[in-house]
Amino acid sequence: MEYIIKILSSHKIRPSHHRICVLKYLIQNKTHPTVEDILTGLAPVMPTISRATIYNTLHVLQEAGLVMALHESGSETRFDYRYRNHAHFYCIQCGRYIDVNTEYDCFNTRAIGPHSVNEVLVYFRGVCADCASGKKSEKTNKDKKTKKGGSES
Ligand SMILES: [Zn+2]
Ligand SMILES: [Zn+2]
Repeated sequence: MEYIIKILSSHKIRPSHHRICVLKYLIQNKTHPTVEDILTGLAPVMPTISRATIYNTLHVLQEAGLVMALHESGSETRFDYRYRNHAHFYCIQCGRYIDVNTEYDCFNTRAIGPHSVNEVLVYFRGVCADCASGKKSEKTNKDKKTKKGGSES
């Protein structure tokens, strides 16, 4: 817990109890959880923490550059501890975000043309190796609505 307080302090964030708990959860669970996942995960240690508190906490951590938010249209925002600058691969079949390395060193870009850069997110979409080989296609598909038309003529 000590090192989490250090991380927060070095980013000029007051290490309140819920900030420590949320950051700790993200550091220990690099599965790109949703707010709901974090809420469930923290329930044993913080049964009274609200969804709104988690949102606010994530916002503070994100503003400080400690947390990345990953958005994919049609699904919930996922959160990730920025343990180092890393890119993400989003699998369109199982909906997982996978940490990947890129050879492009664009993470330290501070300006692009006349525009100033606050944050660099590198993001790839496609089909992951597991799905491509048929290993785990239906695992995280549980909340996906099946509304494929499929009536081409
Ligand atoms: Zn996949
Ligand atoms: Zn990640």
